[in-house]
Amino acid sequence: MIKVENIHKYFDQQHVLKGIDFSVNKGEVVSILGPSGSGKSTLLRCINFLEQPTSGIVEISGKRVNVETAKKADVQSLRLSTGMVFQQYNLFKNLTVLQNVMVGLTSVKKVSTIEAKKISTDILEKVGLQDRLNHYPVQLSGGQQQRVGIARALALNPEVLLFDEPTSSLDPELVSEVLTVIKDVAKEGNTMLIVTHELNFAREISDRVIFMENGIIIEEGTAEQLFNHPRVERTKQFLSKAN
Ligand code: ATP
Ligand code: MG
Repeated sequence: MIKVENIHKYFDQQHVLKGIDFSVNKGEVVSILGPSGSGKSTLLRCINFLEQPTSGIVEISGKRVNVETAKKADVQSLRLSTGMVFQQYNLFKNLTVLQNVMVGLTSVKKVSTIEAKKISTDILEKVGLQDRLNHYPVQLSGGQQQRVGIARALALNPEVLLFDEPTSSLDPELVSEVLTVIKDVAKEGNTMLIVTHELNFAREISDRVIFMENGIIIEEGTAEQLFNHPRVERTKQFLSKAN
């Protein structure tokens, strides 16, 4: 479904991703854990070309793209195959909740306004925002804004959903409403790659977990394996400190 092979990323001289390989099967939920600065966000951003990877291959739904020779159309296709949920929500402040969710459908997917409105309204209902359709982001709590962010990603029905610390900007009491929505999205069989610091959540939701540090994958396994029987000393240390 989604596969990355030997991805490298340099920012000038800084070697941030040092040969990353992994895959996520259809319907699978995979979490990425690791200390600050280990390259987790960069990795997600390289998958959808928000950052240009330096070398390697990204494959989504059988479409293989060598990042060094990627054409504009390849990049566009990878972007359309992914939906991203950002730590800072990244909503359009001058658009209503409904418009925020509709805009990708009408402008990118060329869906008619009527159809886009129907799809978006349904999805916003699913994330519990049916009574906030005409509000602007500034009129919403952080948890509500992030649920709009999730609805926006879902609306485009991407092959894979990428979450970059979707709850780390939220006040503690708002975290659980967003985690609940993400769990519901996972239950519907969506393919998901989630960077998170919420270890209990990762343990609960993930089929597999990847631990990375310093631009490499240190350890990878089922949630049960990685949390209960980490093989690598560094993983053990990270998990014990984080708890
Ligand atoms: P955190 O848990 O704090 O979010 P992270 O694992 O997501 O950390 P990244 O944001 O991927 O880490 O950053 C990895 C390294 O790449 C860091 O040293 C960072 O300073 C560097 N880096 C990230 N983005 C850029 C950029 N646009 N330009 C230059 N360096 C960058
Ligand atoms: Mg990050």
